[in-house]
Amino acid sequence: MQRDWVLYRDLDRVLITKDEISQAVAKLAAQLQKDYEGKDLMCVCILKGAVLFFTDLLRELDLPLTIDFMAISSYGSSTKTSGVVRILKDLDHDVLGKDVLVIEDIVDSGLTLSYIKQTLTQRGAKSVRLATLLDKPERRKNDLKVDYACFIIPNEFVVGYGLDYAEKYRNLPEVGVLDPKIYT
Ligand code: 5GP
Repeated sequence: MQRDWVLYRDLDRVLITKDEISQAVAKLAAQLQKDYEGKDLMCVCILKGAVLFFTDLLRELDLPLTIDFMAISSYGSSTKTSGVVRILKDLDHDVLGKDVLVIEDIVDSGLTLSYIKQTLTQRGAKSVRLATLLDKPERRKNDLKVDYACFIIPNEFVVGYGLDYAEKYRNLPEVGVLDPKIYT
């Protein structure tokens, strides 16, 4: 049982369980299956946080899609956003004429995704929609529209299922609130 793992000792509590994640992923996949039927779907994974969500979601999609990866500068090892967005790794493929679905781990201020959406739209994508595992709407600093969100969560710093603190905890199979004593 993974709850015995040492990584769990640094959590204040588990926020979203493995079962809740797999149910939400399956529900989202069913919705995407309908929304993207007959479209030229390209799924873009935002590295590294969205990796687990991305691969689990893709396994449930019976669509002739393509995939690509993008890395964006994040918080470093802090838990607060810098507000500065920078592309660290760009897409390998052209988005021109594609129906792009950007897959992210969490939307916080919304700065990262609005920058990505604007960039891909300017490059000529036919459509750009945003899917996120977690959404913290309380923290939004713009009017970003998130098209698909699996969970709305409170304003707490979370790790697990791809999300890190100082590059750790990504391999936790659940999403948990990090004990503030770890970063204060
Ligand atoms: P935004 O640009 O929306 O403020 O930030 C999005 C990025 O901030 C996410 O991709 C993620 O890297 C990071 N982030 C925001 N909130 C959290 C959180 O609670 N936990 C972790 N691990 N990362 C977060």
